[in-house]
Amino acid sequence: MDTKNDTPLSRRQIVGGVGGGLAVVAAAPAMAQGVASPAAVKPLVDPTTKYPRPPFKGQSQTWPGLAGKMEPRPDHGETSYKGSGRLAGRKALITGGDSGMGRAAAIAYAREGADVAINYLPDEEPDAREVVAIIKDAGRKAVAIPGDLRDEAFCVRLVDEAVRELGGLDILVSNAGRQQAHDSILDISSEQFDWTMKTNIYAPFWIIKAALPHLKPGSTIIATTSEQAYDPTPDLYDYAQTKAATMNFVKSLAKQLGPKGITVNGVAPGPVWTPLQVSGGASQDKLKKFGGMSALGRPGQPVELCGIYVQLAASDGSFATGQIYGASGGQGQP
Ligand code: NAD
Ligand code: MG
Repeated sequence: MDTKNDTPLSRRQIVGGVGGGLAVVAAAPAMAQGVASPAAVKPLVDPTTKYPRPPFKGQSQTWPGLAGKMEPRPDHGETSYKGSGRLAGRKALITGGDSGMGRAAAIAYAREGADVAINYLPDEEPDAREVVAIIKDAGRKAVAIPGDLRDEAFCVRLVDEAVRELGGLDILVSNAGRQQAHDSILDISSEQFDWTMKTNIYAPFWIIKAALPHLKPGSTIIATTSEQAYDPTPDLYDYAQTKAATMNFVKSLAKQLGPKGITVNGVAPGPVWTPLQVSGGASQDKLKKFGGMSALGRPGQPVELCGIYVQLAASDGSFATGQIYGASGGQGQP
């Protein structure tokens, strides 16, 4: 992260180590205030070869799938993300925080100093346990709240429990999503259509309504939308329209909540290597070539988006509201 606009905390060189929580670097060499020391300079890394490229091995998991069973395993920043106190003292709730983008955000938020509650499905307990351990390792409070977001009563309970356990709420990441590929609209049953709508459209509506009374000025809502919102593929008829709806509610809600001092933004990923893709989100054919069509020739890894979730939650990004931040490897967005 850029250190130019750092908080007073990071100016005193407080850094979060990998899994080590916050530690004060006492004997930093003399240097200009807010400018990285030469020792911190990192070598350039070629983004085309930084992470695995297709062809990938065909693989299929029963929905919702586990990151821990994917080959190769996705990178959520477990061994690489280092915090610098950017979210010290914040309280975050992240849906779908067990895997994928939500997990990358959860790890980064904890290492930036936030306490984090994650929601996920009961079947995802093995992934969720890993995330809880990483949050605790960072010295932060971790709250695990499994449950199905298609149930309005659960969505209300989820927010209540997160607020109670965290002692408040100032970052809400509405990230959970349902994506199942179908070649034809004729293959989508009303039940499947309803499942996608309930998860991707109704649940954020219910959760945001429940959270709003707790959000003070300076709080933020971040929703995960998709490049599919702008340029849908033919196999994601139902999913793509929910992502367009997400992009749209970000913009209306930003206008509604701006005067209250609450920012609302979206993240629009392109192809990212997550369980969603290996549990019905992509055909086997698409999966083997996954991300190969991007300008970088590979899919993104969840860790490559966590900086965006941090930036949108950090107070130095406070003039960004109603925005959609893309990370799609060279396509997407209008
Ligand atoms: P993921 O499978 O790791 O995360 C999705 C999560 O949604 C799951 O972990 C699960 O916990 C949660 N979920 C789904 N249905 C639920 C339900 N009924 N109740 C509770 N939780 C439920 O995959 P991901 O790719 O990280 O997905 C995160 C978000 O990113 C989704 O909104 C997805 O649409 C979006 N997205 C993904 C991609 C991609 O290529 N992976 C691209 C664009 C957008
Ligand atoms: Mg998961």
